[in-house]
Parts: sequence; structure tokens; C-alpha cells
Amino acid sequence: MARRNTKADRLLNNSAMRLEAARLREQTAQSELNIARAVVKNAQEAHDELVRELTPQPRNKTEKATASAPAQKDPPAVVPGTCSYKYPNGNGCFATADNAIHDKSMGYAGYHPFEPAKPVARAPRKSKQKPGDTLPVPSSEIEPETAIAAGAGD
Ligand SMILES: [Zn+2]
Repeated sequence: MARRNTKADRLLNNSAMRLEAARLREQTAQSELNIARAVVKNAQEAHDELVRELTPQPRNKTEKATASAPAQKDPPAVVPGTCSYKYPNGNGCFATADNAIHDKSMGYAGYHPFEPAKPVARAPRKSKQKPGDTLPVPSSEIEPETAIAAGAGD
């Protein structure tokens, strides 16, 4: 079947190429527009930041409330020598041992026994042993050969 290269074919071909070129040009322009917009956005943010830094701020009504939120401070760490008791509302006691809140006779509603702040690491509980059970061999009495054997090459 012989390929006919008619005038109509050439016209259609040229038209399709023009369309494709136009699309490519649009894509290029679009990506350049995106870049330009990003540049504008960055410049705008940098400018706003500079305005905030360099403009004296009179407290006026236009200022948003979000900008004036006070900085949150971290809760105080438990100081050694103070009480680490926590009230039901989550607040710590932080009073020293001689504080009246630790004296039941004072009749405070928040009375609690003094809980000295102590290191987090606690001594492991001794496991109870039932009378009559045979004692497991303590690790210190395991025969030394088993430990050495791993390293003995020849
Ligand atoms: Zn306390």
C-alpha cells in the first residue's frame, strides 16, 4: 500500500506540529511562571520578616492574637531535697520536707507524706523464694571454662 503524501496530509502534519510546539511553549511558560511565583513568595516572606524585625510595633487592634501568645515555660524539674509528690490535678508539690503540707496534724486538704525526689533508677526487687525450692546456681559460680571457651581459638 503506497503512502500517499497529499496536500491534506502535509497540512495536517504541519498543524499537528504547530499544536505540539504551542503546547511545549505553554509548558515552558507554565514552569517559568511557577518558578517566578516561588521567587515572589520567597521574596515576600523575606520582606515581611524584615518588616517585622525593623518596624517598631505599636500595639494596635490589627495585630493578630496569635502573635502575642506568651512563651510557654518548661515545668520545673524536680530538685533533689524537694517533694516529688504529684497532686491529682497534675501539679507537683516541690516543697521541702519541713513544709507544713507534709504535716498531717496541720490538717491541710492537700496533705501527703513527703516524697523525696530520688534518682529514677530503682533497686531491683528481690524475687521471693519459696521455702524448700532448690537454689538456682548464681552466675558467679558458673564454671569459668564456659566463658573462656568462646575465646580459645587454638
Ligand atoms: Zn510534698
